[in-house]
Parts: sequence; structure tokens; C-alpha cells
Amino acid sequence: MNKRILLFLLPILFLQNIIAQNRKIIDVHFHTRSAGDYGKIPPPNPITGKTPEAQTNEAIFNSNIALLKKYNVVKAICSGTLKRNSDYISKDPTRFLSSLEYPDHQNNALPDTIAFKKLCEEHKIVAFGELGLQYEGQTLNDKKYQPYLAICERFGIPVAIHTGIAAPNTPYTCCPNFRIEAGRPLLLEPILIKYPKLKIQLMHMGFPFLDETKALMYVYPQVYADVSAIDWLVPKEEFYNYLKSLVDAGFDNRIMYGSDQMIWEDVIPLTIKTIEEAPFLSDSQKDKIFYKNAAKFFNIE
Ligand SMILES: [Zn+2]
Repeated sequence: MNKRILLFLLPILFLQNIIAQNRKIIDVHFHTRSAGDYGKIPPPNPITGKTPEAQTNEAIFNSNIALLKKYNVVKAICSGTLKRNSDYISKDPTRFLSSLEYPDHQNNALPDTIAFKKLCEEHKIVAFGELGLQYEGQTLNDKKYQPYLAICERFGIPVAIHTGIAAPNTPYTCCPNFRIEAGRPLLLEPILIKYPKLKIQLMHMGFPFLDETKALMYVYPQVYADVSAIDWLVPKEEFYNYLKSLVDAGFDNRIMYGSDQMIWEDVIPLTIKTIEEAPFLSDSQKDKIFYKNAAKFFNIE
């Protein structure tokens, strides 16, 4: 390269690096797991092969918070039990926000509708999810969930639901009732008709149901999607093709970054790098995916 061009480019490259390092991030899919949730000896990360080192709740929190600070993840929507979420919030009240996961790893029952209404009314939760109903072969259309959805709609609490697929062999291992069919994005259409003001977060971006995800996001502007899990669990080119299709379809204003880190903390840097390096995303699109879209969806200043 010509020396003059290099001198011209250096400040730009330097500036780009600074922008990338300082980019504010919201993780909209952050699990507050407890030690032992995945067995006494936690399994290694299926992609990196790294076994989680943290073995106590305290150690899990410390390793998570160190990474969130390092990568400028200024907010994380905590999906977990109310108890575990409040542990996180008490230690760093400005960073963490609580979302009620169901079913959770402690097999807690859903709170009754009076208690749930109170949680929403008093802003004790900012979202209802992750709803892993698909693992039980259920969908949001089941009668049981209707009063909860009506409350969420009334108080502007988004519903965050697992969509698409799950790990290989899921029905043969943890979850005999799991069905792919129950994770189809279009199953949410009757809910959007019944509760027109309800905001929905399609977790895992409906992968791999691209057409259904596009159709749903096109017709219903209150539907946002997060890139969690597929941003590290599926082959990178496959993820990039899927993300690019949705960005090209005009949904860069509604796609949000999520790690779905579960117990593997190394997923946080891995997933941030994957989005940062997506060759088809502009700098302003990355800002939207990492921060602005989630700030709008969750009413974060
Ligand atoms: Zn999920």
C-alpha cells in the first residue's frame, strides 16, 4: 500500500476501533442460572469445548459481571427465577433488569395472576420470558396463558418466547414433549390478533423459519427478534445468511443482540465478535442491533 494512503487510513482505522470498543450493548437474552442447574459437573460449551470454571452462584456472578463490564454490556435483561434475578439486581441495580422465565430451572410454578399483575404494575419485571413453552409441547395459544398475556398487554410488558428449534436430541433427553412444530413463529399470529398492543420478542429470531419470521415481522410491527443462541450455536455462514435476509428485508430496526449465555460465559465475547464482524452490517446497523432497538423495545433511556 502507498505510504500516503496508509497515513490517510490509519486515523480512520483507529477511530473505527474506538467506536467498536465503546459501543454500548444491551443483552436481551441473559440467563441468571444457579450453580448446579446443569448438573454437578456442568457440560462443556458445545462450540468452544470450554467447561465453565465458576462453580458457585457467587463465582458465576463474578465471572459474568467481569465480562459484561469488559465488553460494555450496560444492560442485561435477566431471564431466570425472580430470586436469582434479584440477586443480580441487588449487586448491580443499574445494569440488570428482571424478566420472569417459565418454565425455569428450579421448576417453580407460575405466580397466580394477582401476584403476576402486581409484578407488572410495580415494574418488578420488564418482560415475561424466556417462555420455553415449546419444551413442554405447548404454545402461547394454550388457555392457561391467556390471563397473563392480557396483563402483559395492559401494562406494556413484552412477552419473550423461545421460537424455532433446540439442541440435537432434545425430545430424547430432557424434554420428551418438545416439538419443532410448537416453535413456529406463525403460531403467534392468533395472539397478536387477540392482544393487538402486546409486544413480542421472538427469541432466536424464529430460526430456521425464515419465511414465517419475515411474514410475522412485516405485518406486525410490535414483533422484535433476538439473535441469541443462533449467533454461536449454528454454523457462522448459516447464521449470517439468516441475519442478512432479515436485515435486507428491512428489519434492522427490530433485531436485537442477545447472548443466551446460560452457563458458558465465553459465549458473551464470542457472540459480540460475530455481530461486530458481520461483513454486511454497517456501523449504524450494529449500533441498532447492539443497543438502540432494545432500548426502544424495553423503554430504556
Ligand atoms: Zn431459548
